[in-house]
Amino acid sequence: MAVIFKNLIEETLSKASKFIKNNRILVRFTSFALVSVAALVICIISCGITVGFNVKYEGKNIAVISSTSVFKEAKDTVLNNLADKNDNNIIAKPKFSLTVTSKDNLCCEENLVNAIINNTDEIFFSSSLSVNGQVVAYAEREELKNLVSTALCKYYVEGAENNATFVDEVVINDGYSLEENKKDSNQLKELVSGLKVKTVSTVTTESDVKFSTKTIYTSSKQRGYEEIQTKGEAGLKTETAVIETVNGEETAKTVIARKILKEPVQQVVVKGTAVAYSSATARAQAKSAGFIHPMNKGDIKAVSAYWGDGRNHKAMDFSGNVGVPIFAAKAGKVVSAGWDGNYGYAVVIDHGNGFKTRYAHASSLCVKTGETVTQGQQIAKLGNTGRSTGPHLHFEVIKNGTRVNPAPYIGY
Ligand SMILES: [Zn+2]
Repeated sequence: MAVIFKNLIEETLSKASKFIKNNRILVRFTSFALVSVAALVICIISCGITVGFNVKYEGKNIAVISSTSVFKEAKDTVLNNLADKNDNNIIAKPKFSLTVTSKDNLCCEENLVNAIINNTDEIFFSSSLSVNGQVVAYAEREELKNLVSTALCKYYVEGAENNATFVDEVVINDGYSLEENKKDSNQLKELVSGLKVKTVSTVTTESDVKFSTKTIYTSSKQRGYEEIQTKGEAGLKTETAVIETVNGEETAKTVIARKILKEPVQQVVVKGTAVAYSSATARAQAKSAGFIHPMNKGDIKAVSAYWGDGRNHKAMDFSGNVGVPIFAAKAGKVVSAGWDGNYGYAVVIDHGNGFKTRYAHASSLCVKTGETVTQGQQIAKLGNTGRSTGPHLHFEVIKNGTRVNPAPYIGY
């Protein structure tokens, strides 16, 4: 039995071997075909080859799609999104042809929409510009956006934190529009630059802080002496403010921070009040009474002496130019400062110990009633007010209510 089986196998193998030997070409061809088919099947499975439709639009192959309905959807999308008036004929009829393609190659609706617009002369990718709900222009997207952002930056403050908006409600929408409705570049520029811009800028500015001046009067120096003891120096401050403008015109300003970077240095000036006296007696008298001359000697053009009761001119007159300074002959309290009839603008100072002084016919006054003044402090400017025949200072020394000769008190 086993022998029979063995003989059968050997016989079969021998027949097969003979067949292969006699039909070598046929066997090779069949093997090649089988391998090729297998490879193709593997390739189709692994590469995702599929059947699709080539879209020929306006003479150009613009896409391969899985079904013709993709084109219909894309066409509807374009027409529905076309911002301005349109008719359905604007999209040309495509030609479809069956093709084999990779699945990856199939065009989606979004890309097909772009391809249709790119290949339709009458339509362009637009942005619409709406002002207060009204579309005022269709324009190239980039052109419009560049113009708008340039317009918004126009009133920016350099070095500041800026934020700008249009005063009107301005909206830009991307879409597609008919080429014939596209706004001309110059008109678009004019339109956008005509929109009012509100800019809010946070600005920090640096500025000087002015220094103050303090005057020290000293009787140890002659009148006219003036020396800067401490030189004043300006300080430095910063101010941060939120400034609102409309087309560059300031409409509101809120200061949000102030900072002193450097305090100012007060200037200190020393001024002399001492007067050169005509005689030792006069100096002694003046010194004992503690008075100084009410004017700078250089300002005095002429002196009219005290005449007493005979001429009823119980004062001394010093003529000079209008505006030269008149000084307090002694420290005291201003008991009257203002218009005083024949005296014109006049000041009366009470020095205590029964002494008062009056300064009349001034052009203007530098002190107020009730004010305390130091010796040598400027109290008025020489003038020609009241009953006066020319610019002069009418100076009285009043001792216990009586107008006495001022000469001894001020060094004549
Ligand atoms: Zn007089």
